[in-house]
Amino acid sequence: MRRRPEDECVRGVEVSASVTQPHAAPIFLSSVYRCVDTQQADAIAEQRAEGFVYRRDAHPNATMLAHKCSSIHGAAWAHVTSSGMGALAALLLAEMKAGEHLVASRQMYGRSLQLLETERVRGTCDYSLVDISNEDDVGAAMRENTRWVLAETISNPSLRVCDIRELADLAHRHQARLAIDNTFASPMLCRPLELGADVVWESASKIINGHGDVILGWLCGTDETTHRQQLGHRAELTSLSSNVAAAISTYGLASSPFDCWLALRGLATLPLRCERAVDNARRAAEMLQGHAQVLTVLYPGLANHVDHPLAQRQFGGRGGYVVTFTLQGGRAAVDQFMRAAEKLPFCPSLGDVNSTVSHPMSTSHRQLNAAAQQSLGIDGGTIRLSLGTESWDWLEEVLRAALENVSR
Ligand SMILES: *Cc1c(COP(=O)(O)O)cnc(C)c1O
Repeated sequence: MRRRPEDECVRGVEVSASVTQPHAAPIFLSSVYRCVDTQQADAIAEQRAEGFVYRRDAHPNATMLAHKCSSIHGAAWAHVTSSGMGALAALLLAEMKAGEHLVASRQMYGRSLQLLETERVRGTCDYSLVDISNEDDVGAAMRENTRWVLAETISNPSLRVCDIRELADLAHRHQARLAIDNTFASPMLCRPLELGADVVWESASKIINGHGDVILGWLCGTDETTHRQQLGHRAELTSLSSNVAAAISTYGLASSPFDCWLALRGLATLPLRCERAVDNARRAAEMLQGHAQVLTVLYPGLANHVDHPLAQRQFGGRGGYVVTFTLQGGRAAVDQFMRAAEKLPFCPSLGDVNSTVSHPMSTSHRQLNAAAQQSLGIDGGTIRLSLGTESWDWLEEVLRAALENVSR
């Protein structure tokens, strides 16, 4: 039958698999995939065959990125989410039920704490905040119904390092599990599953993508145990992985193929970028420490940091790519510094190829009261510097020039 031109415009194209394979990953934007018959639809739905159906459930670019995540972290499963927050949301939605409890670090990312509080108010989980570096404090907060302990490998902005091995032992002694936000460390510095954590989540919006043009998250874990769960009238075999996948699809936390494609490209240079950034951070911390305009420097790679021995052990002698320092002269000094350091953009994120600065008091920690800010070491003069991949010579020049502009 001859098709009319207007039908030709509408008709879907035959996407032929090529005999020669593309070397670089294509971008699969298709929202839906065709099945040849209902047998194939059944097989895919029952996970007896590989394949995709609907992009909110799964798509090839997310699968490629998730495979990378698993192999980097040595995980049994991994899923990609629309953001770092989406990863934590998926874990809570998959795992927490009314009447259950979790223990979390008081120094967690502000939005993560806000998510816990929102869920508490909704009645879907209860939580206690603890000083995650104090084993007694964590132990005392554990309850019969505590399911998870949540912590960050390196906290913001005081750059406290948590002892993952010790926390995992503690959680497991209480029949709870440990989930770690590893964003500030990145898998180059630390792979928490190898140290006993059960789940890791990371914001790929930061150093994993590294080019400041993606919002994405991922989470992965060790547990592939399946158990039978009653869902309405059906009994289904579920696992933590399948529960997380279901939460991502049901609550609409799925990633965009283009973001996944960009993050996969960024990931290829993560080891090189991270090595340079960590080297720059160490040099910056050492330089700032000796500067007359600088009151204090916090960097786990410096011998005077409270967690230095732990950081040395856990990160193989490296201190991370973020340095927090406090200028003499408070907020006025920070403004002078920032105006002079226009080559170090003031944008409250981290992990970009460009070095950037942030001001915790006016951005990430502005919702905290003065006492809470003070307890985290946040002063009006506190700057968080995220190091990029520039040459150290250039960075030193820019930093010194900016510090010169802070009036004495
Ligand atoms: C940015 C960040 C998040 C949230 O990630 P998004 O991709 O912005 O949702 C979570 N934890 C830490 C430590 C972060 O820095």
